[in-house]
Amino acid sequence: MTNQDLLQIAEEFGTPVYVYDADSIKSQYEKLTTSFAESTKFFYACKSLTNINILKYVEKLGANLDCVSINEVKLGLKAGFSAERILFTPNCVDLAEIEEAMALNVHINIDNISILEQFGTKYGDSYPVFLRINPHIFAGGNYKISTGHIDSKFGISIHQMRHIERVMKSTNLNIEGLHMHTGSEIKDPEVFLQGLEIMFELSESFPNLKYIDMGSGFKVPYQKGELETDVKALGKKVEKAVAQFKKETGKEFELWFEPGKYLVSKSGHFLVKSNVIKQTTATVFVGVNSGFNHLIRPMFYDSYHVIENLTNPKGTERIYTVVGNICETDTFAWDRKLHEVREGDILVFRNAGAYGFEMSSNFNSRLKPAEVLFLDGKAHLIRKREEFDDLLKNQIEVL
Ligand SMILES: *Cc1c(COP(=O)(O)O)cnc(C)c1O
Repeated sequence: MTNQDLLQIAEEFGTPVYVYDADSIKSQYEKLTTSFAESTKFFYACKSLTNINILKYVEKLGANLDCVSINEVKLGLKAGFSAERILFTPNCVDLAEIEEAMALNVHINIDNISILEQFGTKYGDSYPVFLRINPHIFAGGNYKISTGHIDSKFGISIHQMRHIERVMKSTNLNIEGLHMHTGSEIKDPEVFLQGLEIMFELSESFPNLKYIDMGSGFKVPYQKGELETDVKALGKKVEKAVAQFKKETGKEFELWFEPGKYLVSKSGHFLVKSNVIKQTTATVFVGVNSGFNHLIRPMFYDSYHVIENLTNPKGTERIYTVVGNICETDTFAWDRKLHEVREGDILVFRNAGAYGFEMSSNFNSRLKPAEVLFLDGKAHLIRKREEFDDLLKNQIEVL
């Protein structure tokens, strides 16, 4: 997909619009599958991007699905994933939501002892489950996306093993899988290996273990100089450790991972229009027809997205601060060099496939953008832009 294709899409479907390049998702998936042993499985963490067309595309590639809510499970089934290819990894949900997933026959991952005990008491060994362990390894690009640290709400602390064993013993629970997801942007592959060693140790307490799920942490570069997780090198190291463990212990298990942004981040291009160029005493602002209601990562995580001016690629480079049109400070980027931006120019945010549209809202009563899938050289509208009536859809007028 070229910049020319993007400009054409902006012309045809208007802005703001999220565009996803299917080829990019495919090549990211293939990088993973060719880097690990054939038996290693990848569960697309679909909270990063759940448009049904993306789910169907990922299903056709052969990936499995990691879901964090019952609705994601239902979307996955609707997209064609069979139940055994879906893992449900919720946190802080009630037993009723877990029972709903049970009725759909998907794998279930339990992340606290209270629910574990309730589940075991009610169902014993009749439905095998996963345990989400918090190994307290600090990982992840920043505190907000790190889930393994001591203050994190996620998982069952590794220091609670005695309690887990007690619950297992008294309820006869059947634990088929162990899971950990320590953070979203792990820079050092050694963190995975450290986690794997912990899983190996824990596996001794779970005789029925069939699966070890290492979560995600696969990183993609958002700015120059940043690196993508070297999956080739990681694959080699991980498979070596796994083979050695299997040989030493005679144990068998399947290794799973749950990449989200690794699969879809790069595929996404978010197109906006420059509405105004506003020079103040201290800076030159570009005000675009979007805001944190459409792309919140820069404000929520201080994350960096490359921005380019697609309309004027040869213009003189100047320094701009790119902001949204929301009545709240919504700065996408400070002091960026962009080819001269004029009012009406189309700008693109790169790497916007993951946690972009998915985290969008109607703040300021603004409408959610359209989504387009670029597949086999053609642009397909996969979600229409919201309309004014959508804002009132669930409101009940009593006055
Ligand atoms: C969010 C999440 C992932 C995916 O994280 P990425 O950084 O997008 O790869 C994987 N597993 C679980 C349980 C998650 O909550």
